[in-house]
Parts: sequence; structure tokens; C-alpha cells
Amino acid sequence: MSEKTIFKRIIDGEIPCQKVYEDDRCLAFHDISPQAPTHVLVIPKKEIESVETLDDTDAAMIGHLWLVIRNLARELGLAESGYRVVVNCGADGGQAVPHLHYHILGGRSLSWPPG
Ligand code: 5GP
Repeated sequence: MSEKTIFKRIIDGEIPCQKVYEDDRCLAFHDISPQAPTHVLVIPKKEIESVETLDDTDAAMIGHLWLVIRNLARELGLAESGYRVVVNCGADGGQAVPHLHYHILGGRSLSWPPG
């Protein structure tokens, strides 16, 4: 059996996190190494490696995650000034943790294009 990812260990409560939201399908918590004044990660509880391994049956859950992201951005006070949602995919995308996750970044002006 392959080793649990760090995010699966957080979902299972084996590693602590600064939780901001949880429901039956997802968990949101502060990034351990924030790249902006607000940097929250939203992850599905289902073990999905990346966008690349999404299944058609995940469509409703992914839609739910986007609504959670919208709600969190509002609750975190980012909605008015704006924010960025980032999903890194694979090596060139800079994905370090092989469990699908959405970065919500805000609280400062973010440059474009990314490095
Ligand atoms: P990626 O580069 O895979 O898109 O992003 C992974 C993110 O997970 C990084 O921003 C990193 O700081 C964060 N991260 C890695 N390990 C932990 C951890 O144990 N706890 C938390 N809260 N964030 C983590």
C-alpha cells in the first residue's frame, strides 16, 4: 500500500492543522508556509492525486469545492479586494503534495504572470 500523503494525514487527524472549514466532502486550513497575508488550502476528503486524475463522477464534488472557496473568500474578507485561486498540477505546475488542493491567496496585490 502506498504511503499516505501529508494531506490525507491531516484529513485523518494524524497531523494538526489550523482548520477554517470542514464538511463531509472537504476540509480547509491555513497553509503552513503562507505566500500571502491570507493563504488557505481547500482539499477534497476523497483521495484524488491531481486535476489530471479527476473522474467524471467527481464533477458535483468539484462544483461544491468552488462554492466553498467562494464562501471562504467572503468570510476571510477577501471578496471585495480580490484574491487568487491556484491549483498546481504535476511537476511543471509546481505541485508538491499529490492530493488535489486549491490555494486561496489574498490580502495583497498579486503579480501576474506567476514565475
Ligand atoms: P503545492 O505546491 O503542492 O501546490 O502546495 C502544497 C502546499 O501545502 C504548500 O503551499 C505547502 O506550504 C503546504 N503544506 C505542506 N505541508 C503542509 C502541512 O503539513 N500543513 C499545512 N497546513 N500546509 C502544508
